[in-house]
Amino acid sequence: MIKKIILSSSNPGKLKEFKQLFKTINIDIIPQSQMNIKDVPETGLTFIENALIKARNACKVGGMSAIADDSGIEVDALNGDPGIYSARYGGTNTTDDKNNQKLIENLKNIPSDGRTARYQCALVFMKHDKDPSPIIIQESWEGIINLTPRGTNGFGYDPYFYLPTYKKTAAEISPTEKNKISHRGKALKKLMQKFAEL
Ligand code: IMP
Repeated sequence: MIKKIILSSSNPGKLKEFKQLFKTINIDIIPQSQMNIKDVPETGLTFIENALIKARNACKVGGMSAIADDSGIEVDALNGDPGIYSARYGGTNTTDDKNNQKLIENLKNIPSDGRTARYQCALVFMKHDKDPSPIIIQESWEGIINLTPRGTNGFGYDPYFYLPTYKKTAAEISPTEKNKISHRGKALKKLMQKFAEL
């Protein structure tokens, strides 16, 4: 029976979310920083590859089960960019603002019906570093990139990520609402279902 799982992320928001969810099934989530596990280079070319790389590294160094996630936004008119490079789109020492500026600059001459995009989230659970059949989940969230920002909730690309059915951006809906419909929220829900089946 699994009692503890390493989370291959140092993001405090994610840690809190995972901890709360896994507490309901009596599993303790430990951030990799607490076990002195360093970030590993994300050398994959897909979200799933990168999540596998992170989870495998955490299992190997930490000597137990691990969960990793990898997420980002893909824009159709940019052939899927920024994709797996979403966090580092604006270059070295980038910020959310710089990433967003670059995105809008690249899309400024494209009409709104060509600015379709989606957030992607890959989640991986691995029992140990040689686990041949990890749990792999990928969920997405469709939207359109607006050229002007709206809203103050969320983070990253949220003020520009417009949800036509809500007539709001991802930064204008509440965090609770976002968790219900977002790429990460849906992926986490599926992971919890898989755990319940186990
Ligand atoms: P991470 O690898 O999951 O930490 O996220 C990669 C990058 O994708 C983030 O730094 C953001 O730029 C972007 N991203 C992923 N999920 C979201 C989201 O829910 N809102 C806004 N940006 C996101």
